[in-house]
Amino acid sequence: MPEGHTVHRIARQFDRDLVGHRLAVSSPQGRFAAGAALLDGRELLGSSAVGKQLFLTFEGGHVLRVHLGLYGAWDLHGVVSPLAEGSDAVASLGAPRVRRSVRIGEEERERDDDVDVPDAPFPPAPVGQVRVRLAAEATVADLRGPTACEVLDPAAAALAVARLGPDPASDDGAGGDEMVRRLTSRGTPVGQLLMDQAVVAGIGNIYRAELLYRARLDPHVPGRRVPAETARALWDDWSVLLADGIRTGVMLTREDLDDAGRAAALRDRSLRHWVYGRGGEPCRTCGTPVVVEEMAGRKLYWCPTCQR
Ligand code: ZN
Repeated sequence: MPEGHTVHRIARQFDRDLVGHRLAVSSPQGRFAAGAALLDGRELLGSSAVGKQLFLTFEGGHVLRVHLGLYGAWDLHGVVSPLAEGSDAVASLGAPRVRRSVRIGEEERERDDDVDVPDAPFPPAPVGQVRVRLAAEATVADLRGPTACEVLDPAAAALAVARLGPDPASDDGAGGDEMVRRLTSRGTPVGQLLMDQAVVAGIGNIYRAELLYRARLDPHVPGRRVPAETARALWDDWSVLLADGIRTGVMLTREDLDDAGRAAALRDRSLRHWVYGRGGEPCRTCGTPVVVEEMAGRKLYWCPTCQR
C-alpha cells in the first residue's frame, strides 16, 4: 500500500500540473460516472494530502477524496513537471516534457518508463479499468483501482480530515503533541498504533517497522507504557523520514549510510531498510535473525535483541 510520502508526492504533482486548470473529468470505466459529471468542466483549485488520502478541491466547493488502498495507482500522461530540481531519485525528471507515462502508487513503487513518444496521440485512449480521468490541456491523470473515490461537500471533506490523526507534512504545529496524546493513552501495542490512521496519519507497513527499529522499541509495548518523550521522538523521526520520502520518492530508512551507500540503496531496494522485508536475515546491527510475525493482519518485522 502506498504510504504517506507517495500520496504527498501525488498531491504536489497535481498542484504543479492540474491545479489552476479547468478539467475534463470522466469515468471511462463508468463506475464513477455520476461523480465525474459533478466535477466535469470545473477548475481544480487545490490539491492536498493528509496521511494516505488525497483531497482535490474543485470550483463550486466539490472535493474529490481518493484513497488508493492496496491496489490503486495514478498514471500520468503528457507534461509531468519535476517536483523539485535534482531531487527525484527514481524518476530523474528533467524539464517538463512529453512522456509516455509515469505511474505513482502501485505496490510501493514509482515506475518511470522514461520513453519519449512525441508522435503518440494525446490524450491517449484509456487503458483498462480507469475509474476517473482528469484531463487538462497538456496533462492527463488516470486513476485505477482505488479503495475510495468520492465527491464530498466541504463539510464532509473537513470531517474526513478530522477523523485522521496528525500528519507531519500537513501539520499546523500541534501534531506532535496530538500524536503523543493519542499514542500514550491506549493499551494497544505500539506496533499497531503506528498503523492506526486516527493516531498518526500516513504510516504504512514499511515505515512502521523501520520507525520502531530506529527507536529500538519493542512493537508489543502497549501505547500507554511508551514514555511521552519516546512517543515524541517517534513523531520527530517520522517527520524526518516522511520529508525525505516526499523529496526522493523512495523509502530509504537507514541513517547509517554514507553517500556511496545511499546511492547503492537507491538502486537496490534490498539495501534500504533495517528490518522490513528481512525476516530470517541477520540484523544489520547485532546479527540476530530478524523476526517476522503477524500483527493485526499485517507482517511485522523486528529485531528481538535490539528492540527491547
Ligand atoms: Zn538487532
